[in-house]
Amino acid sequence: MLFRDVARVELGDGRTICLDTNGDITYISHAHSDHVFGKKKKDIVASDATIHLAGVSYDSKLVHDHIRLYNAGHMLGATQIEIMKDGGNFAYTGDISIEDGFTFKGAEVVEADELLIEATYGSQEYQFPKKADIAEVLRREVKSRVAYGNVIFAVYSTGKAQELIKILNDYCDITPVVGSDIARVSDIYVEHGQKLSYVSSDREDASEMFKDNFVGIIPKSRFRPELRFRLAQHYRKPCYFGSLSGWNAKFSSDYYDIALPMSDHADFNGLLEYVDYSNPKRVYVFGAFAENFSNVLKLRGYESYAVK
Ligand SMILES: [Zn+2]
Repeated sequence: MLFRDVARVELGDGRTICLDTNGDITYISHAHSDHVFGKKKKDIVASDATIHLAGVSYDSKLVHDHIRLYNAGHMLGATQIEIMKDGGNFAYTGDISIEDGFTFKGAEVVEADELLIEATYGSQEYQFPKKADIAEVLRREVKSRVAYGNVIFAVYSTGKAQELIKILNDYCDITPVVGSDIARVSDIYVEHGQKLSYVSSDREDASEMFKDNFVGIIPKSRFRPELRFRLAQHYRKPCYFGSLSGWNAKFSSDYYDIALPMSDHADFNGLLEYVDYSNPKRVYVFGAFAENFSNVLKLRGYESYAVK
């Protein structure tokens, strides 16, 4: 069974909405690039923040009696969609976080007859500590290291970087220096009402901050193991690297001094909880652990299908 087939849903008026895939009517659950696919759309269904963050243009924004959006947690603007069909309803989650983040509220559960759910961490090995506990560990780790050198986090620019800025602001009383791409995304968060304090690395005041020990955030894609030595040489002091990712629950890396299992996705138990509360007659599962999570659901009595 293919995702693109399950993710095309009839609206009951002869039209079809395409969920996180392109079509005449495109629904974008959130602004991460693996859910957007291109900047030009025809009719669109998405939150204002998602449209702003994704930078997409479109012909018209669709409002439809058969469509309702719900908060998905995960990041600014992220939604789930419910589509009314003859004799029932269909819900699609996209990426969800059940627990509140530092910049978003946790997902609402949509009760649905048919559910299409993304199982990024749909394997028993992925169970994350509470975010407040992780933030407390992060505070201790950062405070003890920034006394001796610089601390640089390498994280995703959209979503995770803003969560980290908020933790550094609120738990550590630290304003980080951030890469200019992270600053651009963070500016949109601020425009949509988030209170975040950060300085873009290309601004004049950042060069003042570089004279003292500082905490920096760079995009994960720019991280290279040799950066540690280059930066230590450049600033003539130790440079510690940090990572915040759900994958840290299973994989460790010698490249990071601070590696905490913090994710903006639901963990295994969170996904199970969602399905149980949603109570669907039929579940379609996609994502990294689709097969595994679908089998777990079958054992719990659900009619469940893994989709690719
Ligand atoms: Zn995402």
